[in-house]
Amino acid sequence: MYGGHIGIALAGKGFKSTIPMWLLVLATQLPDWADAAVCSAGSAGTSEMWSHSLPAVAVLGLMLAIPYFASSRDIAAASLIAMIVVSHAVADYATGLKPTWPGGPHIGLELYHRPMMDFVVEGVVIVIGWMIYRRSLAPEKRQTSPVTTLLVALMLLQLAASVSFSLFPGIKKC
Ligand SMILES: [Zn+2]
Repeated sequence: MYGGHIGIALAGKGFKSTIPMWLLVLATQLPDWADAAVCSAGSAGTSEMWSHSLPAVAVLGLMLAIPYFASSRDIAAASLIAMIVVSHAVADYATGLKPTWPGGPHIGLELYHRPMMDFVVEGVVIVIGWMIYRRSLAPEKRQTSPVTTLLVALMLLQLAASVSFSLFPGIKKC
């Protein structure tokens, strides 16, 4: 998944406004960055197992949630951060084909092969995440242009991603 991950980060901000936005974006992107790190370290064949399998995202989630809990003492927010990291794998099962656990099957709907469907599904995730975020703002802030621009920018970003998937179907992240 691409823009949909950012939609999930926005929903997290809507649920728990005390969590900094950068940390929520880090939480949604961490498995992809872990994948790139393992991949560029020379283990391209196993990088998804180390970054996107269910045990991997559980470990990555705890790596963010434990230090956050240690500094904030907010167990609900720390749990939300862990859940958002795990959501990355779940969201990627919709768009790609990802490992489940060592020795387990690869599963996924592979929406990247159907860019129109990918745009619709990720667009819905972005809009729902944005609505949850917007609801958490003070009423006078909800109609302001930065809030609207955010949604437009995310949808354009996703459109660009979906179009590039249709133009370059074999594109690989690493
Ligand atoms: Zn991913």
